[in-house]
Amino acid sequence: MEMNIKTLGILGSGQLGRMLAIAAATRGIRAHIFAPDAAGSPAAEIAHSFTEAAYDDENALRAFAQQIDAVTSEFENVPASTMRFLAGYVPASPGHDALHIAQNRLREKNLARDLAIATPKFWAINSAHMLQNALATLEGKAILKTTEQGYDGKGQLQVSAETDADEAWQALATHEAILESFVDFAFEISVLVWRDADGQMGCFPIAQNQHKSGILHQTIAPAPDADAGLVRRAEEAACALAEAVNLFGVMAMEAFVTSSGEIIFNEIAPRPHNSFHWTIEGCITSQFTQAVRIALQQGAGNCAATGRYKMENLLGEDIARLNAIQQQPETALHLYGKAEARDGRKMGHLTTRLSSLG
Ligand code: AMP
Repeated sequence: MEMNIKTLGILGSGQLGRMLAIAAATRGIRAHIFAPDAAGSPAAEIAHSFTEAAYDDENALRAFAQQIDAVTSEFENVPASTMRFLAGYVPASPGHDALHIAQNRLREKNLARDLAIATPKFWAINSAHMLQNALATLEGKAILKTTEQGYDGKGQLQVSAETDADEAWQALATHEAILESFVDFAFEISVLVWRDADGQMGCFPIAQNQHKSGILHQTIAPAPDADAGLVRRAEEAACALAEAVNLFGVMAMEAFVTSSGEIIFNEIAPRPHNSFHWTIEGCITSQFTQAVRIALQQGAGNCAATGRYKMENLLGEDIARLNAIQQQPETALHLYGKAEARDGRKMGHLTTRLSSLG
């Protein structure tokens, strides 16, 4: 009997696409990368094939669609219209609405508020004058963020009532921003929710995260400080968001937890997430395998954890220690094949098993 070898299209060329392609290959599925910078990228390097074209090149998208069985995105800033276009040809994950909402910080905070999920206080800001008015009502610190394209702490400024609004607005160099009150959190968590084509949903065990300079530094999961009540409330919030954006695939929700146990929504990312890289070693089904299974409608896998794990990011500045890191006997090293190690650039990660689940 002949095997019908499937091909998964992946929009985006970074490390998430690379790890999706590896997960696909493990299941005998070919990956075809589509990105404007595909050639030589972390994802294309290990994929079966790639197309280098702009996300709005309809001829290239049509040719791509004819070579794949389903498509998924590793990058939330792929235009939502690209997702809608491809959905006319193949099952498309995470779907137009999930991308559209997640691409704008105001849209995602408004959605959370509509779903009665707590958020920081926030204001939409379109000018230095609006910023000045909002700062005047501010108690304590706040963060001014561009509504679009910001990531890893980029496009953000800490401000307070004393900040010069004109200077801050100029420094951010955008036409639309969100001002958020600063949350005095006890710890940060993320939830990875999956939702299949039939609307069935579930969550991976919750991750507890530490950031440094706006970049994820370390994750421990299942979250040691999350009790059963917190886990239930966090999962309910993530599932409500997944339904509201009509998610088809996997999506991360990042949130703050205060000392009184309140969950305060930060953002969603409808794709595999850095804080769930530990699932490669730590869960029966990894986040990448789950994304592949759902996109190709192969049935969701069991995502229970097999122990407690720590994941640490390796940034450009950590590469000087690579020789020593490579020799560690108990850690799983993942490098993304990036030749240039710049400060703050995500080069790889390390996963260590900490203990069994008590
Ligand atoms: P973001 O790009 O919005 O995910 O922000 C990156 C990191 O900055 C978060 O994970 C937090 O550590 C911190 N941060 C962002 N927004 C806030 C906030 N409103 N209050 C406190 N810390 C924040």
